[in-house]
Amino acid sequence: MIFIKMSIKKYYFNLKSVIAIVIFSVKMSYCFAITGLCHCEPFYWAKQSFRNIGLLGLFFVFFTVTPAHADKIKAVATFSVIADMVRHVAGDSIDLLVLVGPNADAHEYEPVPADSVHISKADIIFENGLHLEHWLDKLYTASGTKAKRIIVSRGVSVRTMGDNPQESDPHAWQDVTNVILYAQNICDALVVLDPVNRVKYEAQTKDYVKQLQALDGWVKAQVALISVEKRKLVTNHDALGYFARRYGFQIIGAVIPSATTEAADPSALQTAQLLDIIKKNNVRAIFSENMANLKLAQTLSKEAGVAVGPELYTDALGVIGSDAQTYIQMIKHNVKIFVEYLK
Ligand SMILES: [Zn+2]
Repeated sequence: MIFIKMSIKKYYFNLKSVIAIVIFSVKMSYCFAITGLCHCEPFYWAKQSFRNIGLLGLFFVFFTVTPAHADKIKAVATFSVIADMVRHVAGDSIDLLVLVGPNADAHEYEPVPADSVHISKADIIFENGLHLEHWLDKLYTASGTKAKRIIVSRGVSVRTMGDNPQESDPHAWQDVTNVILYAQNICDALVVLDPVNRVKYEAQTKDYVKQLQALDGWVKAQVALISVEKRKLVTNHDALGYFARRYGFQIIGAVIPSATTEAADPSALQTAQLLDIIKKNNVRAIFSENMANLKLAQTLSKEAGVAVGPELYTDALGVIGSDAQTYIQMIKHNVKIFVEYLK
């Protein structure tokens, strides 16, 4: 059914075809349907065929006048980073709505009633998976939607948390090569749902993958400016494990020692241990994050006698006007800070 709809949509955009079909069908139908035909007329069978073609044309025109916007795929992305990837792959071929916007925390998100309405109308939902959007199952069920759910991290080599091998680290997008997989997963899902735009999706994905490959090379070149023994990170929460694994950094610790910002505040013992590690490793800065509470990082930095570094973009893009409006900008922003502070 969706394929038929998309086929109709394709022809709708071909204005010349529609005009030609209208003229042809009206002429055929008027000439033969109104005036009528007689078996004894010369060329009866040829005229009868023309009439049938005319009527078929009118039937076709009836469907092609369906408004184009009614056929646009309605997509939902769970948070800003995924939404940017979907925009690069899909362009303007879909209507996209984002649940957790810029500077907002996808870990701790509390859905609002409007989210249920948006999801109920969606054809497809793009989510990170790996237990990041733990609030989505309930929202999905409550909305009654039939939207297809696509886990865009499918196929990545999942990092588990050091002290808990059962806990998956959801921040796979921090390794640029993983985002190439994300983009391909998004493209594959859109091609299944909207095969008419297959060429467009595939071309846009190819172009985006090239940009991501270039970004991966740029990150490697920038990181090479920092000596290996100085590639040590302390962040607000444990969000950069994939980044560290790909680009040769060591995660010294996190103010909130968890891959989720929902974890309880660190105990006195955990804080004391982290302070000890920071001092032993000559850590120069604790990096804060755009979507996290600064208070704990500020307290720890005072006790450790190190600065709170500039804000990183980890789990959310920045607002319009920031230098992290896209995923690529976000990674560049973070890497420039690391080079500046750790070199
Ligand atoms: Zn996170």
